[in-house]
Amino acid sequence: MLELEGLTATYGAVRALDGVGMSVAEGSITAVLGANGAGKTTLLRTVGGLLGPTAGRVRFDGTDITGWPADRITRRGLVHVPENGGVITELTVEENLRLGALWRRDRADRAAALAEAFELFPRLAERRDKPAATLSGGERQMLAIGRGLMSRPKMLLLDEPSLGLAPLVTLRILRVIEELRARAGLTVLLVEQNARSALSVADHGHVLSLGRVVAAGAADALLADDQLRHAYLGF
Ligand code: ATP
Repeated sequence: MLELEGLTATYGAVRALDGVGMSVAEGSITAVLGANGAGKTTLLRTVGGLLGPTAGRVRFDGTDITGWPADRITRRGLVHVPENGGVITELTVEENLRLGALWRRDRADRAAALAEAFELFPRLAERRDKPAATLSGGERQMLAIGRGLMSRPKMLLLDEPSLGLAPLVTLRILRVIEELRARAGLTVLLVEQNARSALSVADHGHVLSLGRVVAAGAADALLADDQLRHAYLGF
């Protein structure tokens, strides 16, 4: 579904991504792991079109999307849910969700997507008319994912959905990600600092360090590799 080849991105003199190659199979959950500053967020921003790569290619669903602007990538079915969700706190829950499907022309389609989001996250349905500012951290993260789903993507790029959340809330979010894959065959690229919980739902993992992939493999194999865990995953 997603193929990265030699992907390189810089901020001025800082080379945040340095020749990253990766392949994400359709319907899989793939975790991108690594310490602070390893380049995980930069990877998602580059794939999602928020940052132009200085070298390398991004292929999504059979199309070379390298250098495409973010909105065009979204319309193609690859949706980026940024770190902290990017929820607009002044708007209500429903208004935030609707933002995710603004570009869709078909009204019935938008209504159906909204109903699905509320079905997936009943808590959001209960709070649909409340400003997003009143939501808890976990509810905001659900809102961010729900908004991403409003455009009915083929693939989600999720940046640290567990950031700042209690372990139980994190678990609920990860279960929803599993459910989305099971229900709709959604493909997910999941960036996490919390490697243990990410690998508990992921099929595969890639470990980044200083902008390079230093290890990759089946989630079980990464979990079983003590040396790797100690050196890069922090547990
Ligand atoms: P975190 O978990 O802290 O978000 P990360 O693995 O996502 O870490 P990135 O945020 O992608 O890492 O950062 C990779 C490198 O790029 C780091 O050295 C960081 O300092 C640098 N960097 C990130 N954003 C910028 C920016 N806007 N300007 C300059 N340097 C940046």
